[in-house]
Amino acid sequence: MSPAIYAALVGSLFQNPAPMFAGAACAAIAAVMTALKTGNELLWPCAALLILTGAIRSFDMAKYKNRHTELTAGEASRWEVRYQIGAMLYAMALGAWCAIALLMSDDAVAHMICISVTTGYVAAGAGRTYGRPWIFHLQILLTCGPMAAAMALHGDPYYLGMALLTVLYFLGLKMITTSLQQIFVRALIAREREAALAGQFDTALNNMPHGLCMFGADGRLGVMNYRFSEMMRLPTDFVRRNVNAADVVAACVASGTMSPENGKTIISEIENSQASAIVTADPDREYGRALSWTFQPMAGGGTVLLVEDITERRKAEARISHLARFDALTALPNRLSFRDEIERLLAISNSASRLSALLFIDLDQFKQVNDTLGHPCGDRLLCIVADRLRGMLRPDDFVARFGGDEFVVFQQNIQSPEEAAALSRRIVERLSERYEIDRHLVEIGASVGIALTSRGMTADNLLKNADMALYRAKADGRGTFCFFRDEMAETVEARRVLELDLRKAMANEEFELFYQPLVNLKSGRITTCEALLRWNHPSRGTVSPIDIIPVAEDMGLIVDLGRWILRKACMECMKWPEAVSVAVNFSSQQFHQRDILSEVRYALEVSGLPAHRLEIEITESSLLRNTQWTHDALMQLHSAGVRISLDDFGTGYSSLSYLHNFPLQKVKIDRSFLEGIDTDRPLTLLRGVARLSADLGMSVVVEGIETNEQLELISADGTVTEAQGYLFSRPVSATRIHQLLDASHGRHLREGNVKVLPSRSIA
Ligand code: C2E
Ligand code: MG
Ligand code: MG
Repeated sequence: MSPAIYAALVGSLFQNPAPMFAGAACAAIAAVMTALKTGNELLWPCAALLILTGAIRSFDMAKYKNRHTELTAGEASRWEVRYQIGAMLYAMALGAWCAIALLMSDDAVAHMICISVTTGYVAAGAGRTYGRPWIFHLQILLTCGPMAAAMALHGDPYYLGMALLTVLYFLGLKMITTSLQQIFVRALIAREREAALAGQFDTALNNMPHGLCMFGADGRLGVMNYRFSEMMRLPTDFVRRNVNAADVVAACVASGTMSPENGKTIISEIENSQASAIVTADPDREYGRALSWTFQPMAGGGTVLLVEDITERRKAEARISHLARFDALTALPNRLSFRDEIERLLAISNSASRLSALLFIDLDQFKQVNDTLGHPCGDRLLCIVADRLRGMLRPDDFVARFGGDEFVVFQQNIQSPEEAAALSRRIVERLSERYEIDRHLVEIGASVGIALTSRGMTADNLLKNADMALYRAKADGRGTFCFFRDEMAETVEARRVLELDLRKAMANEEFELFYQPLVNLKSGRITTCEALLRWNHPSRGTVSPIDIIPVAEDMGLIVDLGRWILRKACMECMKWPEAVSVAVNFSSQQFHQRDILSEVRYALEVSGLPAHRLEIEITESSLLRNTQWTHDALMQLHSAGVRISLDDFGTGYSSLSYLHNFPLQKVKIDRSFLEGIDTDRPLTLLRGVARLSADLGMSVVVEGIETNEQLELISADGTVTEAQGYLFSRPVSATRIHQLLDASHGRHLREGNVKVLPSRSIA
């Protein structure tokens, strides 16, 4: 039994002080009457006791009634004890009165008075004490017990019969009070449960994020939660008034949280009694609140109205949609919205047969800014670029950031392609002007690809064309613009086919290595053979490595291809005389792969080639990138015994610092140095570079020797150690180089120091 129910049961004992007082007064008068009637003096104390205890109990009850707080379990237990003492005393007084009157007198009137009053009092007690039946049962026992016993002892059979009837009466009352108590307890439990449910409902209603109102079938307001009155700024006592839907709406309008028009809509939705939902805007525009109203009919008639403040959600949705369509950095439209916008504008210009141009802009050297000054500076630069672009366009034109350092401009309704060219020229110039970012002066360039619209052109095609034109503009040396032409698409297509073919060639092992000898000018002997890639394509014929290598680099195929070349060249070298080394070209990207060292070691290991017979040819572009890493990698290769030569020297930056800073053993002076060698200046230049390299301890090779005159000129002062060129041999197949080496080295062995004469081609 819960403390609350126990307290309620105890409380029920004190509910009716007036009948209790009246009963006590009646019993006292009856006792006095019996004392007077019988003259038995013992009845006076009984009457006095009845008056006294009756008065005390009535007083106690009144005291209980005057309490104003809820009864706690502890208090209830104390009040129960007080009630119990009073009830027992009173019952004993009644019992004693009956016993004395019945046993000590033969007065039938007195007998009738005491029996009827006691029986009546007990019956009334059943209606008062059912909450704690055991008190009542004890009370009957103390009252009816002496009365029944006295009647039984009277000797008269009728008195005996009455005694028996009293016992039965006692038992009947006992059962009645027990079941009354059960009914009462059940009612209390139900009330308690109801109160708990109401409490939960109340908590739920007042803690939900929605405002809620329930209107009955008659339109009267049944329930309104706190959130609703708070949201609609209603007066606090509003709910207590007996109001209907129209009153609620009128109060909302009065508080300024609902416009009269919205109010009308809401009343009609409530009256409609159909599930529906609407969204209303706050009449106060500055407040800008959006409310979502849901109307749900109830089973027995009436409507539940839910209102939710969706302002934040709406704002978040707007933010998300803005983020999805605009670039967060530059606040320009992004690729997605640009594409949609272009589709729209294209549809208009297609129908009006107007000419428009798409300008695809790419910043040159932007990566360097990012790499050297850091990304925050790069970001600032992009913002300024965006501002400059915005400032240059007509209101009709549309600019977007396409991604990274790429921007696109849609130039609408132009008269001729020249207008697009003029804008592109201005864009290139404006974006190439100096920028000041965080006290750094930054200079970048821009390249522009232009595609013109034509009938039926889609946004994707336009973008693709502009992209191809941009590619060409960049290839043309950057800082310029270029219009799309149909043959560009052909070039792109050709490149795509080449890529496909290359993949197939890789899988089908269609590649071959040719070898070209490097001849020592003093001994006249072949010291090294350079491995050169050949691809014999069934329909293209022999494809130059100059065309293959860049594509393979772009496709990421260079790593696999390079690995194959290296291993093949090492294995081939194993078949050659010991004095002959193999030179393998490494492209810049291939050289910068992380595991270059293990690649080289592995190739040497599987072929069995000693490291000193391998020469790796790198170009200046390989030295440009990632200098420290490059230096370390070269040092490690050098320590492993592999030789490094710098290929095509004189075609790139020709920085003399490379010769000094990196562990190079050989410098290969490019063929271009031989142009005009018969005049003074180029020869002086070549000799100067050769001498410098020789002085730094490197052997010097001149590539591309085709004539005896060239050979004589370069070998005159003795600084050039080796020469390579068609004069000695073109690049030849593995079989052929084998034969050549056999011939030259065999002859050398047989005939002593017989040189391969440079004046005669050996191939
Ligand atoms: P390179 O490393 O400078 O190779 C020398 C190029 O000059 C070869 O062209 C060779 O055939 C050519 N050559 C040699 N002597 C003469 C001459 O007297 N006159 C003329 N006109 N040309 C001569 P090739 O084989 O077409 O190779 C071109 C470039 O392709 C090579 O230049 C090299 O940079 C690259 N390459 C070739 N094979 C490979 C390779 O296996 N891997 C890598 N990464 N690059 C390679
Ligand atoms: Mg080379
Ligand atoms: Mg070269």
